[in-house]
Amino acid sequence: MSTDPAAGATAAMLRARAAQPAWAALPVAERAHKMRAAGLAILQRAEELAQLIVTETQKPLAEAYSSEVLGVGDLFAYWCKHGPSQLAPRKGLVPALEMPGKKAFVQRVPRGVVACISPWNYPISLPMRTIVPALLAGNAVVLKPSEVTPRTGARLVQALQACLGDVVTLVEGDGAAGAALVQADPDLVVFTGSTRTGRKVAVACAERGIPCELELGGKDCAIVLDDCAVDRTAMGVAWGILTNAGQNCSGIERVAVHQGIAHVFVPKLVAALERAARDVPELVTPAQRAIVERHVQDALNRGAALLTGRLDADRALPPLLLTRVPADAAAWCDESFGPVAVLAQGGDDAELLALATDSRYGLGASVWSANATRAHAVANQVRSGMVWINNHSFSGALPDLPWTGMGDSGTGVTNSPDALAHMTRPRLVVHDTNTKPEPWWYPYGDKLVALMRVLVARQQAGGIGATIKTLRALNARMAELSK
Ligand code: NAD
Repeated sequence: MSTDPAAGATAAMLRARAAQPAWAALPVAERAHKMRAAGLAILQRAEELAQLIVTETQKPLAEAYSSEVLGVGDLFAYWCKHGPSQLAPRKGLVPALEMPGKKAFVQRVPRGVVACISPWNYPISLPMRTIVPALLAGNAVVLKPSEVTPRTGARLVQALQACLGDVVTLVEGDGAAGAALVQADPDLVVFTGSTRTGRKVAVACAERGIPCELELGGKDCAIVLDDCAVDRTAMGVAWGILTNAGQNCSGIERVAVHQGIAHVFVPKLVAALERAARDVPELVTPAQRAIVERHVQDALNRGAALLTGRLDADRALPPLLLTRVPADAAAWCDESFGPVAVLAQGGDDAELLALATDSRYGLGASVWSANATRAHAVANQVRSGMVWINNHSFSGALPDLPWTGMGDSGTGVTNSPDALAHMTRPRLVVHDTNTKPEPWWYPYGDKLVALMRVLVARQQAGGIGATIKTLRALNARMAELSK
Protein backbone atom coordinates (compact mmCIF):
# COMPACT_ATOMS: atom_id res chain seq x y z
CA MET A 1 0.00 0.00 0.00
CA SER A 2 1.29 3.44 -0.93
CA THR A 3 1.53 5.95 1.94
CA ASP A 4 1.27 8.86 -0.49
CA PRO A 5 -2.48 9.26 -1.15
CA ALA A 6 -1.95 10.86 -4.56
CA ALA A 7 0.44 8.12 -5.71
CA GLY A 8 -1.89 5.38 -4.45
CA ALA A 9 -4.93 6.91 -6.15
CA THR A 10 -3.09 7.52 -9.41
CA ALA A 11 -1.76 3.96 -9.51
CA ALA A 12 -5.22 2.46 -8.84
CA MET A 13 -6.75 4.72 -11.45
CA LEU A 14 -4.14 3.87 -14.10
CA ARG A 15 -4.63 0.13 -13.60
CA ALA A 16 -8.41 0.44 -13.82
CA ARG A 17 -8.19 2.70 -16.85
CA ALA A 18 -5.90 0.28 -18.64
CA ALA A 19 -8.24 -2.65 -17.97
CA GLN A 20 -11.52 -0.91 -18.85
CA PRO A 21 -11.51 -0.80 -22.71
CA ALA A 22 -11.10 -4.58 -23.12
CA TRP A 23 -13.79 -5.17 -20.50
CA ALA A 24 -16.18 -2.75 -22.22
CA ALA A 25 -15.48 -4.41 -25.57
CA LEU A 26 -16.86 -7.74 -24.33
CA PRO A 27 -20.49 -8.45 -25.22
CA VAL A 28 -22.65 -7.69 -22.19
CA ALA A 29 -23.70 -11.36 -21.98
CA GLU A 30 -20.05 -12.31 -21.54
CA ARG A 31 -19.52 -9.70 -18.86
CA ALA A 32 -22.61 -11.06 -17.10
CA HIS A 33 -21.21 -14.60 -17.34
CA LYS A 34 -17.90 -13.59 -15.76
CA MET A 35 -19.69 -11.57 -13.10
CA ARG A 36 -21.86 -14.52 -12.08
CA ALA A 37 -18.63 -16.39 -11.31
CA ALA A 38 -17.34 -13.40 -9.32
CA GLY A 39 -20.59 -13.29 -7.33
CA LEU A 40 -20.24 -16.96 -6.52
CA ALA A 41 -16.61 -16.45 -5.43
CA ILE A 42 -17.74 -13.78 -2.97
CA LEU A 43 -20.54 -15.99 -1.65
CA GLN A 44 -18.02 -18.78 -1.11
CA ARG A 45 -16.23 -16.40 1.26
CA ALA A 46 -19.52 -15.54 3.02
CA GLU A 47 -18.51 -16.68 6.50
CA GLU A 48 -15.07 -15.05 6.30
CA LEU A 49 -16.56 -11.75 5.10
CA ALA A 50 -19.34 -11.82 7.70
CA GLN A 51 -16.78 -12.39 10.48
CA LEU A 52 -14.60 -9.58 9.15
CA ILE A 53 -17.58 -7.23 9.21
CA VAL A 54 -18.32 -8.26 12.80
CA THR A 55 -14.70 -7.54 13.77
CA GLU A 56 -14.55 -4.17 12.06
CA THR A 57 -18.05 -2.86 12.85
CA GLN A 58 -19.19 -4.83 15.95
CA LYS A 59 -22.41 -5.70 14.07
CA PRO A 60 -24.18 -8.82 15.34
CA LEU A 61 -23.37 -11.76 13.05
CA ALA A 62 -27.11 -11.96 12.18
CA GLU A 63 -26.96 -8.42 10.74
CA ALA A 64 -23.62 -9.06 9.00
CA TYR A 65 -25.41 -11.82 7.12
CA SER A 66 -28.89 -10.27 6.71
CA SER A 67 -27.93 -6.76 5.67
CA GLU A 68 -24.56 -7.39 4.02
CA VAL A 69 -23.55 -10.81 2.73
CA LEU A 70 -26.98 -12.16 1.76
CA GLY A 71 -27.71 -9.25 -0.54
CA VAL A 72 -24.57 -9.84 -2.61
CA GLY A 73 -26.08 -12.94 -4.25
CA ASP A 74 -29.27 -11.03 -5.07
CA LEU A 75 -27.32 -8.12 -6.57
CA PHE A 76 -25.35 -10.32 -8.97
CA ALA A 77 -28.42 -12.39 -9.86
CA TYR A 78 -30.55 -9.30 -10.55
CA TRP A 79 -28.04 -7.37 -12.63
CA CYS A 80 -26.75 -10.36 -14.61
CA LYS A 81 -30.35 -11.32 -15.50
CA HIS A 82 -32.00 -7.92 -16.06
CA GLY A 83 -29.04 -5.61 -16.77
CA PRO A 84 -28.38 -6.76 -20.36
CA SER A 85 -31.89 -5.84 -21.54
CA GLN A 86 -31.74 -2.52 -19.67
CA LEU A 87 -28.46 -1.79 -21.46
CA ALA A 88 -29.71 -2.84 -24.91
CA PRO A 89 -29.76 -0.09 -27.55
CA ARG A 90 -33.11 1.68 -27.89
CA LYS A 91 -34.62 2.40 -31.30
CA GLY A 92 -35.24 6.14 -31.58
CA LEU A 93 -38.38 7.49 -33.23
CA VAL A 94 -37.76 9.32 -36.50
CA PRO A 95 -40.79 10.70 -38.42
CA ALA A 96 -40.85 8.90 -41.76
CA LEU A 97 -42.55 11.75 -43.64
CA GLU A 98 -40.18 14.61 -42.77
CA MET A 99 -37.06 12.42 -42.39
CA PRO A 100 -37.40 9.50 -44.79
CA GLY A 101 -34.99 6.55 -44.70
CA LYS A 102 -33.39 7.28 -41.34
CA LYS A 103 -32.86 4.80 -38.50
CA ALA A 104 -31.79 5.92 -35.03
CA PHE A 105 -30.37 3.90 -32.13
CA VAL A 106 -29.57 5.12 -28.63
CA GLN A 107 -26.82 3.03 -27.07
CA ARG A 108 -25.85 3.04 -23.39
CA VAL A 109 -22.07 3.36 -23.24
CA PRO A 110 -20.00 3.09 -20.07
CA ARG A 111 -18.63 6.24 -18.45
CA GLY A 112 -15.15 4.71 -18.14
CA VAL A 113 -13.73 4.51 -14.61
CA VAL A 114 -16.16 4.99 -11.72
CA ALA A 115 -14.75 6.04 -8.33
CA CYS A 116 -16.84 4.52 -5.54
CA ILE A 117 -16.20 6.24 -2.19
CA SER A 118 -17.90 4.36 0.64
CA PRO A 119 -18.75 4.77 4.33
CA TRP A 120 -18.24 2.22 7.10
CA ASN A 121 -21.79 1.44 8.16
CA TYR A 122 -22.49 -1.17 5.43
CA PRO A 123 -18.99 -1.93 4.11
CA ILE A 124 -20.08 -4.59 1.59
CA SER A 125 -23.67 -3.99 0.58
CA LEU A 126 -23.24 -0.26 -0.13
CA PRO A 127 -20.20 -0.41 -2.45
CA MET A 128 -21.57 -3.53 -4.16
CA ARG A 129 -24.74 -1.63 -5.13
CA THR A 130 -22.47 0.56 -7.26
CA ILE A 131 -19.77 -1.93 -8.26
CA VAL A 132 -22.08 -4.60 -9.73
CA PRO A 133 -24.17 -2.47 -12.13
CA ALA A 134 -21.16 -0.27 -12.99
CA LEU A 135 -19.13 -3.31 -14.06
CA LEU A 136 -22.00 -4.86 -15.97
CA ALA A 137 -22.37 -1.61 -17.90
CA GLY A 138 -18.70 -1.91 -18.99
CA ASN A 139 -17.08 0.45 -16.50
CA ALA A 140 -14.06 -0.23 -14.32
CA VAL A 141 -14.39 0.72 -10.64
CA VAL A 142 -11.90 2.08 -8.13
CA LEU A 143 -13.19 1.42 -4.60
CA LYS A 144 -12.18 3.66 -1.70
CA PRO A 145 -13.60 1.93 1.36
CA SER A 146 -13.87 3.71 4.69
CA GLU A 147 -10.73 3.87 6.82
CA VAL A 148 -12.87 2.34 9.59
CA THR A 149 -13.46 -0.86 7.59
CA PRO A 150 -10.28 -1.23 5.50
CA ARG A 151 -9.91 -5.01 5.74
CA THR A 152 -13.45 -5.73 4.55
CA GLY A 153 -12.97 -3.40 1.59
CA ALA A 154 -9.59 -4.91 0.68
CA ARG A 155 -10.90 -8.48 0.91
CA LEU A 156 -13.87 -7.62 -1.30
CA VAL A 157 -11.65 -6.13 -3.99
CA GLN A 158 -9.24 -9.07 -3.74
CA ALA A 159 -12.11 -11.52 -4.33
CA LEU A 160 -13.39 -9.55 -7.32
CA GLN A 161 -9.91 -9.14 -8.81
CA ALA A 162 -9.30 -12.88 -8.60
CA CYS A 163 -12.18 -13.35 -11.07
CA LEU A 164 -12.22 -10.14 -13.07
CA GLY A 165 -8.71 -8.68 -12.95
CA ASP A 166 -7.99 -4.98 -12.70
CA VAL A 167 -11.47 -3.77 -13.63
CA VAL A 168 -11.82 -3.36 -9.86
CA THR A 169 -8.96 -1.69 -8.00
CA LEU A 170 -8.53 -0.38 -4.47
CA VAL A 171 -7.51 2.89 -2.89
CA GLU A 172 -6.81 2.55 0.83
CA GLY A 173 -6.73 5.30 3.40
CA ASP A 174 -8.75 8.10 4.96
CA GLY A 175 -10.35 11.26 3.59
CA ALA A 176 -7.06 12.35 2.02
CA ALA A 177 -7.08 9.18 -0.08
CA GLY A 178 -10.71 9.85 -1.10
CA ALA A 179 -9.84 13.41 -2.07
CA ALA A 180 -6.81 12.15 -4.04
CA LEU A 181 -9.04 9.71 -5.89
CA VAL A 182 -11.24 12.58 -7.08
CA GLN A 183 -8.10 14.47 -8.16
CA ALA A 184 -7.05 11.41 -10.19
CA ASP A 185 -9.89 12.26 -12.63
CA PRO A 186 -12.33 9.35 -12.66
CA ASP A 187 -15.19 9.63 -15.16
CA LEU A 188 -17.85 9.50 -12.43
CA VAL A 189 -17.76 9.69 -8.63
CA VAL A 190 -20.38 7.77 -6.67
CA PHE A 191 -20.07 9.02 -3.11
CA THR A 192 -21.92 7.62 -0.11
CA GLY A 193 -21.27 9.28 3.23
CA SER A 194 -22.04 12.30 5.34
CA THR A 195 -23.63 15.45 3.95
CA ARG A 196 -20.64 17.50 5.07
CA THR A 197 -18.08 15.36 3.17
CA GLY A 198 -20.46 14.99 0.23
CA ARG A 199 -20.45 18.76 -0.23
CA LYS A 200 -16.63 18.80 -0.34
CA VAL A 201 -16.64 15.99 -2.89
CA ALA A 202 -19.24 17.84 -5.00
CA VAL A 203 -17.07 20.99 -5.03
CA ALA A 204 -13.93 19.02 -5.94
CA CYS A 205 -15.84 17.27 -8.73
CA ALA A 206 -17.32 20.51 -10.04
CA GLU A 207 -13.84 22.07 -10.21
CA ARG A 208 -12.65 19.19 -12.39
CA GLY A 209 -15.85 18.80 -14.41
CA ILE A 210 -16.48 15.30 -13.07
CA PRO A 211 -20.12 14.19 -12.65
CA CYS A 212 -20.95 12.94 -9.16
CA GLU A 213 -23.78 11.10 -7.48
CA LEU A 214 -24.26 11.80 -3.79
CA GLU A 215 -25.96 9.52 -1.27
CA LEU A 216 -25.81 11.44 1.99
CA GLY A 217 -27.10 11.55 5.55
CA GLY A 218 -30.67 11.25 6.77
CA LYS A 219 -33.07 11.94 9.63
CA ASP A 220 -35.98 9.65 8.83
CA CYS A 221 -39.34 10.03 10.51
CA ALA A 222 -41.90 7.33 11.30
CA ILE A 223 -45.45 8.73 11.10
CA VAL A 224 -47.67 6.64 13.35
CA LEU A 225 -51.38 7.13 12.61
CA ASP A 226 -54.08 6.29 15.16
CA ASP A 227 -55.42 3.32 13.16
CA CYS A 228 -52.12 1.43 12.95
CA ALA A 229 -51.60 -2.13 14.21
CA VAL A 230 -50.05 -0.96 17.46
CA ASP A 231 -48.00 -4.04 18.44
CA ARG A 232 -46.49 -4.60 14.99
CA THR A 233 -45.85 -0.87 14.55
CA ALA A 234 -44.02 -0.67 17.89
CA MET A 235 -41.82 -3.62 16.88
CA GLY A 236 -41.18 -2.24 13.39
CA VAL A 237 -40.37 1.27 14.61
CA ALA A 238 -38.02 -0.14 17.28
CA TRP A 239 -36.17 -2.08 14.57
CA GLY A 240 -36.03 1.05 12.39
CA ILE A 241 -34.46 2.99 15.26
CA LEU A 242 -31.99 0.34 16.37
CA THR A 243 -30.86 -1.67 13.36
CA ASN A 244 -27.07 -1.42 12.97
CA ALA A 245 -27.16 0.40 16.37
CA GLY A 246 -28.89 3.28 14.58
CA GLN A 247 -25.86 3.79 12.31
CA ASN A 248 -28.11 3.63 9.29
CA CYS A 249 -28.60 6.53 6.88
CA SER A 250 -32.33 5.76 6.83
CA GLY A 251 -32.58 4.89 10.50
CA ILE A 252 -35.70 6.23 12.24
CA GLU A 253 -34.50 9.20 14.29
CA ARG A 254 -37.90 10.90 14.72
CA VAL A 255 -41.25 9.37 15.61
CA ALA A 256 -44.40 11.45 15.02
CA VAL A 257 -47.25 9.70 16.78
CA HIS A 258 -50.97 10.55 16.74
CA GLN A 259 -51.87 11.76 20.23
CA GLY A 260 -55.01 9.59 20.18
CA ILE A 261 -52.90 6.43 20.52
CA ALA A 262 -49.79 7.77 22.23
CA HIS A 263 -50.89 6.37 25.61
CA VAL A 264 -50.95 2.82 24.15
CA PHE A 265 -48.21 3.11 21.54
CA VAL A 266 -45.46 4.78 23.56
CA PRO A 267 -45.27 2.12 26.33
CA LYS A 268 -45.19 -0.59 23.65
CA LEU A 269 -42.43 1.19 21.76
CA VAL A 270 -40.44 1.62 24.98
CA ALA A 271 -40.89 -2.09 25.78
CA ALA A 272 -39.81 -3.09 22.25
CA LEU A 273 -36.69 -0.89 22.49
CA GLU A 274 -35.78 -2.32 25.89
CA ARG A 275 -36.29 -5.90 24.67
CA ALA A 276 -33.98 -5.25 21.71
CA ALA A 277 -31.22 -3.72 23.85
CA ARG A 278 -29.22 -6.95 24.11
CA ASP A 279 -28.90 -7.12 20.29
CA VAL A 280 -27.65 -3.55 19.95
CA PRO A 281 -23.84 -3.32 19.85
CA GLU A 282 -21.60 -0.42 20.85
CA LEU A 283 -21.15 2.26 18.21
CA VAL A 284 -18.34 1.76 15.72
CA THR A 285 -16.19 4.73 16.74
CA PRO A 286 -15.81 6.81 19.92
CA ALA A 287 -16.31 9.91 17.75
CA GLN A 288 -19.74 8.66 16.65
CA ARG A 289 -20.69 7.96 20.26
CA ALA A 290 -19.61 11.47 21.25
CA ILE A 291 -22.01 12.95 18.65
CA VAL A 292 -24.95 10.95 20.03
CA GLU A 293 -24.09 11.87 23.63
CA ARG A 294 -23.81 15.54 22.70
CA HIS A 295 -27.22 15.51 20.98
CA VAL A 296 -28.91 13.75 23.91
CA GLN A 297 -27.25 15.87 26.62
CA ASP A 298 -28.05 19.10 24.77
CA ALA A 299 -31.73 18.06 24.47
CA LEU A 300 -31.86 17.15 28.18
CA ASN A 301 -30.28 20.49 29.10
CA ARG A 302 -33.04 22.19 27.13
CA GLY A 303 -35.94 20.50 28.90
CA ALA A 304 -36.26 17.18 27.05
CA ALA A 305 -36.89 13.92 28.91
CA LEU A 306 -35.77 10.35 28.26
CA LEU A 307 -38.61 7.82 27.98
CA THR A 308 -36.07 5.01 28.10
CA GLY A 309 -32.30 4.65 28.43
CA ARG A 310 -29.76 6.94 30.07
CA LEU A 311 -26.27 8.18 29.31
CA ASP A 312 -23.63 6.23 31.17
CA ALA A 313 -20.00 6.72 30.16
CA ASP A 314 -19.04 3.28 31.48
CA ARG A 315 -21.52 1.27 29.43
CA ALA A 316 -22.46 0.74 25.76
CA LEU A 317 -25.13 3.18 24.64
CA PRO A 318 -28.58 1.70 25.33
CA PRO A 319 -31.65 2.48 23.19
CA LEU A 320 -32.58 6.10 23.95
CA LEU A 321 -36.01 7.64 23.33
CA LEU A 322 -36.34 11.38 23.90
CA THR A 323 -39.47 13.48 24.19
CA ARG A 324 -40.19 17.22 24.57
CA VAL A 325 -37.18 18.06 22.38
CA PRO A 326 -37.15 21.68 21.12
CA ALA A 327 -37.56 21.92 17.35
CA ASP A 328 -34.21 23.69 16.93
CA ALA A 329 -32.23 21.18 19.04
CA ALA A 330 -29.57 19.08 17.29
CA ALA A 331 -31.38 15.90 18.37
CA TRP A 332 -34.37 16.99 16.27
CA CYS A 333 -32.56 18.65 13.34
CA ASP A 334 -29.22 16.88 12.82
CA GLU A 335 -28.34 13.30 12.03
CA SER A 336 -27.44 11.54 15.32
CA PHE A 337 -26.50 8.14 13.79
CA GLY A 338 -26.98 6.11 16.95
CA PRO A 339 -29.61 4.14 18.90
CA VAL A 340 -31.60 7.27 19.64
CA ALA A 341 -34.91 8.73 18.47
CA VAL A 342 -37.02 11.75 19.33
CA LEU A 343 -40.75 11.31 19.83
CA ALA A 344 -43.33 14.06 19.21
CA GLN A 345 -47.13 14.01 19.13
CA GLY A 346 -49.59 15.49 16.64
CA GLY A 347 -53.38 15.82 16.71
CA ASP A 348 -54.17 14.95 13.08
CA ASP A 349 -52.53 13.77 9.85
CA ALA A 350 -51.62 17.32 8.79
CA GLU A 351 -49.83 17.98 12.07
CA LEU A 352 -47.97 14.66 11.87
CA LEU A 353 -46.94 15.44 8.30
CA ALA A 354 -45.68 18.86 9.36
CA LEU A 355 -43.52 17.18 12.02
CA ALA A 356 -42.18 14.64 9.50
CA THR A 357 -41.31 17.21 6.84
CA ASP A 358 -39.66 19.57 9.33
CA SER A 359 -36.19 18.50 8.17
CA ARG A 360 -33.57 19.59 5.67
CA TYR A 361 -32.88 15.90 5.02
CA GLY A 362 -35.13 13.82 2.78
CA LEU A 363 -33.95 10.23 2.55
CA GLY A 364 -36.74 7.99 3.89
CA ALA A 365 -39.95 8.12 5.90
CA SER A 366 -42.58 5.63 6.93
CA VAL A 367 -46.33 5.82 7.45
CA TRP A 368 -47.94 3.29 9.77
CA SER A 369 -51.70 2.80 9.27
CA ALA A 370 -54.28 0.09 8.58
CA ASN A 371 -56.09 2.34 6.10
CA ALA A 372 -54.42 2.15 2.69
CA THR A 373 -56.14 5.27 1.28
CA ARG A 374 -55.18 7.38 4.27
CA ALA A 375 -51.63 6.00 4.39
CA HIS A 376 -51.02 6.70 0.69
CA ALA A 377 -52.48 10.21 1.03
CA VAL A 378 -49.96 10.95 3.78
CA ALA A 379 -47.11 9.14 1.98
CA ASN A 380 -47.66 11.21 -1.18
CA GLN A 381 -47.03 14.42 0.74
CA VAL A 382 -43.81 13.41 2.48
CA ARG A 383 -40.71 15.12 1.09
CA SER A 384 -38.32 12.19 0.80
CA GLY A 385 -36.79 9.92 -1.81
CA MET A 386 -38.43 6.83 -0.28
CA VAL A 387 -41.61 6.25 1.73
CA TRP A 388 -42.52 2.91 3.20
CA ILE A 389 -46.03 2.09 4.43
CA ASN A 390 -46.08 -0.20 7.48
CA ASN A 391 -42.34 -0.90 7.27
CA HIS A 392 -39.07 1.00 7.14
CA SER A 393 -35.79 1.05 5.21
CA PHE A 394 -35.58 -2.68 4.31
CA SER A 395 -35.94 -2.04 0.54
CA GLY A 396 -32.25 -1.18 0.15
CA ALA A 397 -31.71 -4.93 -0.14
CA LEU A 398 -33.91 -5.12 -3.28
CA PRO A 399 -31.86 -4.37 -6.40
CA ASP A 400 -34.83 -3.41 -8.61
CA LEU A 401 -35.96 -0.59 -6.27
CA PRO A 402 -34.26 2.81 -6.32
CA TRP A 403 -32.46 3.96 -3.17
CA THR A 404 -32.47 7.73 -3.29
CA GLY A 405 -33.01 10.94 -1.39
CA MET A 406 -33.94 14.61 -1.59
CA GLY A 407 -32.55 17.78 -0.03
CA ASP A 408 -29.51 17.34 2.22
CA SER A 409 -29.73 13.57 1.77
CA GLY A 410 -28.42 14.03 -1.79
CA THR A 411 -30.16 13.03 -4.98
CA GLY A 412 -27.97 10.14 -6.07
CA VAL A 413 -29.62 6.85 -6.97
CA THR A 414 -28.29 3.39 -6.27
CA ASN A 415 -30.06 0.13 -7.21
CA SER A 416 -32.71 -0.10 -9.97
CA PRO A 417 -32.55 0.78 -13.68
CA ASP A 418 -32.36 4.45 -12.61
CA ALA A 419 -28.82 3.79 -11.33
CA LEU A 420 -27.75 2.68 -14.82
CA ALA A 421 -28.75 6.08 -16.18
CA HIS A 422 -25.82 7.76 -14.45
CA MET A 423 -23.35 4.88 -14.80
CA THR A 424 -23.66 5.10 -18.57
CA ARG A 425 -24.06 7.82 -21.18
CA PRO A 426 -26.50 7.74 -24.08
CA ARG A 427 -24.75 7.57 -27.46
CA LEU A 428 -26.76 8.25 -30.56
CA VAL A 429 -26.11 6.43 -33.83
CA VAL A 430 -28.16 7.50 -36.84
CA HIS A 431 -28.03 5.63 -40.15
CA ASP A 432 -29.47 7.41 -43.20
CA THR A 433 -30.51 5.10 -46.07
CA ASN A 434 -32.06 7.95 -48.06
CA THR A 435 -30.33 8.27 -51.44
CA LYS A 436 -31.79 11.66 -52.38
CA PRO A 437 -30.40 15.04 -51.27
CA GLU A 438 -32.27 16.50 -48.31
CA PRO A 439 -34.70 19.36 -49.00
CA TRP A 440 -33.10 21.43 -46.19
CA TRP A 441 -29.57 21.24 -47.70
CA TYR A 442 -28.14 24.09 -49.83
CA PRO A 443 -29.19 25.87 -51.94
CA TYR A 444 -32.08 27.35 -49.94
CA GLY A 445 -35.06 28.62 -51.93
CA ASP A 446 -38.80 29.16 -52.12
CA LYS A 447 -39.46 25.43 -52.29
CA LEU A 448 -37.93 24.88 -48.85
CA VAL A 449 -39.81 27.79 -47.29
CA ALA A 450 -43.08 26.51 -48.80
CA LEU A 451 -42.38 23.06 -47.42
CA MET A 452 -41.67 24.44 -43.93
CA ARG A 453 -44.91 26.46 -44.01
CA VAL A 454 -46.93 23.38 -44.86
CA LEU A 455 -45.24 21.40 -42.07
CA VAL A 456 -45.92 24.17 -39.54
CA ALA A 457 -49.55 24.29 -40.72
CA ARG A 458 -49.74 20.59 -40.09
CA GLN A 459 -48.49 21.06 -36.53
CA GLN A 460 -51.00 23.89 -36.00
CA ALA A 461 -53.91 21.80 -37.31
CA GLY A 462 -53.60 18.97 -34.75
CA GLY A 463 -55.88 15.90 -34.72
CA ILE A 464 -55.82 13.02 -37.13
CA GLY A 465 -58.43 14.45 -39.57
CA ALA A 466 -56.61 17.76 -39.83
CA THR A 467 -53.29 15.97 -40.25
CA ILE A 468 -54.62 13.93 -43.19
CA LYS A 469 -56.01 17.09 -44.76
CA THR A 470 -52.69 18.88 -44.35
CA LEU A 471 -50.77 15.92 -45.77
CA ARG A 472 -52.94 16.06 -48.86
CA ALA A 473 -52.22 19.79 -49.16
CA LEU A 474 -48.52 19.05 -48.68
CA ASN A 475 -48.51 16.47 -51.49
CA ALA A 476 -50.39 18.81 -53.82
CA ARG A 477 -48.02 21.68 -53.04
CA MET A 478 -44.93 19.52 -53.55
CA ALA A 479 -46.29 18.25 -56.87
CA GLU A 480 -46.95 21.83 -57.95
CA LEU A 481 -43.44 22.96 -56.99
CA SER A 482 -41.84 20.03 -58.83
CA LYS A 483 -43.45 20.96 -62.15
P1 NAD B 1 -17.87 10.24 5.82
O1 NAD B 1 -18.47 11.30 5.00
O2 NAD B 1 -17.04 10.64 6.98
O3 NAD B 1 -16.90 9.31 4.92
C1 NAD B 1 -17.37 8.63 3.79
C2 NAD B 1 -16.19 8.29 2.89
O4 NAD B 1 -15.64 9.50 2.36
C3 NAD B 1 -15.04 7.59 3.61
O5 NAD B 1 -14.51 6.59 2.78
C4 NAD B 1 -14.03 8.72 3.82
O6 NAD B 1 -12.70 8.28 3.94
C5 NAD B 1 -14.23 9.51 2.55
N1 NAD B 1 -13.82 10.93 2.61
C6 NAD B 1 -13.66 11.73 3.69
N2 NAD B 1 -13.28 12.96 3.31
C7 NAD B 1 -13.20 12.95 1.95
C8 NAD B 1 -12.87 13.93 0.97
N3 NAD B 1 -12.56 15.17 1.29
N4 NAD B 1 -12.92 13.56 -0.33
C9 NAD B 1 -13.26 12.31 -0.69
N5 NAD B 1 -13.57 11.33 0.20
C10 NAD B 1 -13.55 11.66 1.51
O7 NAD B 1 -19.05 9.28 6.24
P2 NAD B 1 -18.99 8.05 7.25
O8 NAD B 1 -18.87 8.57 8.64
O9 NAD B 1 -18.02 7.05 6.77
O10 NAD B 1 -20.46 7.41 7.04
C11 NAD B 1 -21.59 7.82 7.73
C12 NAD B 1 -22.42 8.79 6.89
O11 NAD B 1 -22.78 8.17 5.66
C13 NAD B 1 -23.75 9.14 7.56
O12 NAD B 1 -23.99 10.50 7.41
C14 NAD B 1 -24.76 8.32 6.79
O13 NAD B 1 -26.07 8.84 6.82
C15 NAD B 1 -24.18 8.35 5.42
N6 NAD B 1 -24.70 7.26 4.61
C16 NAD B 1 -25.58 7.54 3.61
C17 NAD B 1 -26.14 6.50 2.87
C18 NAD B 1 -27.16 6.77 1.77
O14 NAD B 1 -27.46 5.86 1.02
N7 NAD B 1 -27.72 7.95 1.64
C19 NAD B 1 -25.78 5.19 3.13
C20 NAD B 1 -24.87 4.94 4.16
C21 NAD B 1 -24.34 5.99 4.89
